[in-house]
Amino acid sequence: MTAAENLSEQLYPAPIKTVEEGSPAARAGVRPGDVLLRVNGEAITDVLDYRHKLERGVVTLEIARPQQAPLVMTGVPTTAQDHHRLMLPAAPSLDETFTFTVEWEDPGLDFEEVLFDGIKKCANKCDFCYVHQMPRGFRKSLYIMDDDYRLSFLYGSFVTLTNLTEGDINRILNENLSPLYVSVHTANQDLRQDMMKWWKLKVKDPQAVQIREMIERLESIDLYTQIVLVPGRNDRENLDETVEYLSSRPNVISAAVVPIGLTAHRTNLPDVRTFNREEAQDTLKRLNIWRKKFLAERGTRFIFPSDEIYLLAGEPLPSEEEYEGFPMLENGVGMIRDFLTEGLPELPAALPYPMKVILGTGLLFAESLDRAVEPLRAIGGLEIEVRAVENKTFGRVTTVAGLLTGRCFRHAVKPGEADLLIVPPTTLRYGTELMLDDVSLSELRQEFRMDVRAGGATLGELARVILQGAQSSGPQFGMSAHAVKDKPVDEIVAEASMHGRGQA
Ligand code: SF4
Repeated sequence: MTAAENLSEQLYPAPIKTVEEGSPAARAGVRPGDVLLRVNGEAITDVLDYRHKLERGVVTLEIARPQQAPLVMTGVPTTAQDHHRLMLPAAPSLDETFTFTVEWEDPGLDFEEVLFDGIKKCANKCDFCYVHQMPRGFRKSLYIMDDDYRLSFLYGSFVTLTNLTEGDINRILNENLSPLYVSVHTANQDLRQDMMKWWKLKVKDPQAVQIREMIERLESIDLYTQIVLVPGRNDRENLDETVEYLSSRPNVISAAVVPIGLTAHRTNLPDVRTFNREEAQDTLKRLNIWRKKFLAERGTRFIFPSDEIYLLAGEPLPSEEEYEGFPMLENGVGMIRDFLTEGLPELPAALPYPMKVILGTGLLFAESLDRAVEPLRAIGGLEIEVRAVENKTFGRVTTVAGLLTGRCFRHAVKPGEADLLIVPPTTLRYGTELMLDDVSLSELRQEFRMDVRAGGATLGELARVILQGAQSSGPQFGMSAHAVKDKPVDEIVAEASMHGRGQA
């Protein structure tokens, strides 16, 4: 049977990104760009399946080398231009295959993707879904409504479990895919259906949507849960019931409580609103009663309100200790406290030349950030302005920093008005300098005629970014920091110590 014939039997060819030098795969002649077809004669669906099969010890891997795809005509051309347009590459041929065997050894392969059979999409239409509230025109990947338990296990993304098949459930249990991160929202089944509106036709296993049964069925799997709180729906007494239920399940490790996030783009969507101050205060009051009780009884607070709830309520953030190691930072639980926890580095008394810095952030965090950077204002020559940037893309109702786009900064900052603009690191796509709307930091540098940098995840990192900005903001950006251009940060700090004011 050729590889091409195998493809019709649901193979999921996995493109290989890298081959470790000296590894069994390298010795067998595998190259980046080859694809893995089978392990021990069986198709593989994802990296978890791959790793699981390797655990058998002696395994044979079947590799294919894609051949150059010929161009094929996809329609009837009527003009020369058409001819060009209709010539598309056919799927590459995978007929050239070879195998190699490893015995209790890692083959040394790294893949382009972790899911070979594609991402599992969600079966819901939640009232609070962010994807449904996104304006048009962003890159396609931002509109993907994924709900894949494998990504939950691999990267900690939250899943609803409403799209599981019986096979998925068995796999989670058999392969011990623990922990998982689950969006529960409410333990009241009718209300959950009302808020999440899963499509009956897309639900593979009716048991999977029964949240209590599912949590109980997954009893050997640790679950980190979250509740997206919608005022007037799953808050107040309903929230108490949900907390009570979740805390009764030994496999539920914790529950994060996050308020609904809204944008101005809610056409044809259910009428929901965000929390006002009194409602946020009421929520905290309820949760604090539970937190105290759990801490006394089981040594953990179990339930963790997100930063946004404290800011909405206008109440002080919990101490570092109360976050119990910050396990849910990605979910907006403890980000601000974590930001404040790393103290400032030793600060210079003064910059050799004056510099103006704008710290751009969302409306929600601006006041707290302004207070946090106060010690930096003692540095001579450093002018810091915290600018609350209105979200012009998602609407004023969206106040968190992470959803600011290049467009928002274009509205908020005038060219040449400062030497350095610092944007929140959460506005950038992971590992890139691109914002949500694909505007890059270098574009903003050009347009604003100033240095533009991503700030740090902590106050200490932010201070270092500012000092590094002082080091490299040069005449090309304009106003005032020219002469510090070639001085390394260490030198600036050392100079300051000589002036006798090391610590702000
Ligand atoms: S589960 Fe709900 S919130 Fe998540 S993508 Fe689907 S509809 Fe949106």
